[in-house]
Amino acid sequence: MAIQQTWEDVDMEEMGKEHASLGRGLPVLKLKVGTNIFRVLPARTGSGSKNPFVKFWVHGIGEGSSFRSFQCPYNTLGASCPVCDKVSALMRTGNEADRQAADRIKAKLEVYCNVIDMKDQDKGVQVLRCAEGTYRDLLGFMVPKSADEPAVNFTNPMTGMNVLIEREGEGKKTKYKTSLSRSGPKPLPDLSVLEKMHDLSKAVRAMPAEQVVALLEGRDTEFPAKQLEAGNGKVSSIADDPDLA
Ligand SMILES: [Zn+2]
Repeated sequence: MAIQQTWEDVDMEEMGKEHASLGRGLPVLKLKVGTNIFRVLPARTGSGSKNPFVKFWVHGIGEGSSFRSFQCPYNTLGASCPVCDKVSALMRTGNEADRQAADRIKAKLEVYCNVIDMKDQDKGVQVLRCAEGTYRDLLGFMVPKSADEPAVNFTNPMTGMNVLIEREGEGKKTKYKTSLSRSGPKPLPDLSVLEKMHDLSKAVRAMPAEQVVALLEGRDTEFPAKQLEAGNGKVSSIADDPDLA
């Protein structure tokens, strides 16, 4: 006799992916000096969005091993944010050092998308993190300029095209120039990568309000330290990356 199913059976494939994702951060790649060539992948099926880009407003506070980055509650949810309040207070003093301190901790836009590095395809699907300028350029390609220059969906797996990001210089003097490939539309070399895209909604985490306040007051010891990968130059946020800020 058939029984009426009153439960949702677990999706074993999803569980496997979840297991594989535990304990590992997203593979965020670092833009190299010179020409970087990417294929930007579309949104994942089931992500609830058709937008290939996931956007966060992020604060970064603290120095060295006590550096933390987290999603800004004000810009994300309209909820009160102790860091944004502090930024406003610092800006009001009219003091140059305070203005610089405010600039360091203010919320910055971080945008994430799944990409294939076309110069290093063996690495599989990686995550590109970009700041507002590059994001504006990328979106600009999706807007028609004239009848002769139509919008380009460079993310389509079959008819999309490569995106070039040229990086000039390092540190605070870094400049980025973004353009579309001159080789035109072509299919992704390996369509199976579409099954290996990362869940970008996990790129940035929220932080409990009391921890944010503790950080601002310089007493973060009651919270577990973020694991930093020392010495390899990796950063966890644009807020800590002068190249992208
Ligand atoms: Zn904020």
